[in-house]
Amino acid sequence: MAVEFRCQDVGVACRNVARAETPDELVAAVAAHAKAKHGVELNQTLIDYAVTKVRPAGD
Ligand SMILES: [Zn+2]
Repeated sequence: MAVEFRCQDVGVACRNVARAETPDELVAAVAAHAKAKHGVELNQTLIDYAVTKVRPAGD
């Protein structure tokens, strides 16, 4: 099942929605987006938090 992550779900004023086929791919996509657009390097704490906000894509 595809999954997605919205910056808004972690309180960031950003309309980006990252989607991927697996959670691992999604974490990589979110990490790349966070670095490119927000200047944030995801550490393990941030990744663990972000994972709690991952949801099935499409709703
Ligand atoms: Zn963002």
